[in-house]
Parts: sequence; structure tokens; C-alpha cells
Amino acid sequence: MEERAGLRIRLLGDPVLRKKSKQVSRITARHRDILSKMSRMMYDSGGIGLAAPQVGVSESMIVVDIGNGLYKLINPRIVKREGAKSREEGCLSVPGVCIKVKRANKVLVHAQDDEGKSIEIKAEDLLACVFQHEIDHLKGKLIVDHASFLDKIRIKKRVEEIKRQARNEKLPESETKSCKLQL
Ligand SMILES: [Zn+2]
Repeated sequence: MEERAGLRIRLLGDPVLRKKSKQVSRITARHRDILSKMSRMMYDSGGIGLAAPQVGVSESMIVVDIGNGLYKLINPRIVKREGAKSREEGCLSVPGVCIKVKRANKVLVHAQDDEGKSIEIKAEDLLACVFQHEIDHLKGKLIVDHASFLDKIRIKKRVEEIKRQARNEKLPESETKSCKLQL
């Protein structure tokens, strides 16, 4: 029902972003359709990753494309992490905010593709970062949760602005793509 009405990017303040996503037990045409729509929305927004809760769907699905191929993943999970790397991350659900996040530099991801086939992806650097960011979304976790004390002061005004816009169900007017990575 929700999908028929059209999916839209949800902003910080929308409760769906804080809900834990449900595992997909049976993959259907509906899931494939949502994943296709999510891919289009990601490309249209200039993003390199998007998780289902960001379009209002509380199910374990993500799309990722850092420029060398599209991943449409169902029930993704990180089974191994290695090393550490900090990067400035942005988020399509928190427009105009950029937070430095420390994550593993290498991850091993287990997931299913949109036909239900089990897949394993070894990712490092930027790709590893994007998988971790998107899988965080499935747990209801956002980049603002990684903010330091000083970050919180710096972004306070912008966060309040986004939350107000989330309540009005409008996209931010003063959207500033201050962060290179939009996830
Ligand atoms: Zn995000």
C-alpha cells in the first residue's frame, strides 16, 4: 500500500528511521520492485547507498553502488570486520550534515540477492564503509549517533531544521550537500 503511494526519502525525525528492520523470509516480486525503486532513488539523489528504512520500508534491504556495480542486498549482515578507518559521511536522511565516523576498513558481508541466492562480499575501504553505514540503518542507527560532543553542538541547528521538515513531510529547502559521501 505504502509502495503504491510512491516511496520517498525519509528524514531524521521520522520514526521509521529508528525502527529495527524485519528480516525478509520470502523474497517476492514486491521486494524486487522496492529494490529497483530504491536504486533509482539512490542514483537520482546522487547517493552511493540507500537502505529500505530511508524510503519508509522497515525490511532488511539495501542498495549500494560506489561506481563499480550495483548491489541489491536482502538480509545483509557483517560476519567479519578488520582494521579501522575514519571518514566524513553524509546521509540522504540527514541532508547537509557531515560526520566523521570510524568504522572497520574491511568487512565480510553475507546476504541474499534479489532472487534469494546466498552471496558473500569481501569489501574494503569506501565499499566497506558504505555497507556498514547501510546496515546501521537496518538497526535504526544513524550518523548522528556517531557524533562527538563538538559535532553535536555544530549540527544542532541543522538537525532541528531537518526534524521540523520531517514533520511537515517536505524536503529541506536549504539543503546543502556539504558532504561528498551521500549514503
Ligand atoms: Zn544514510
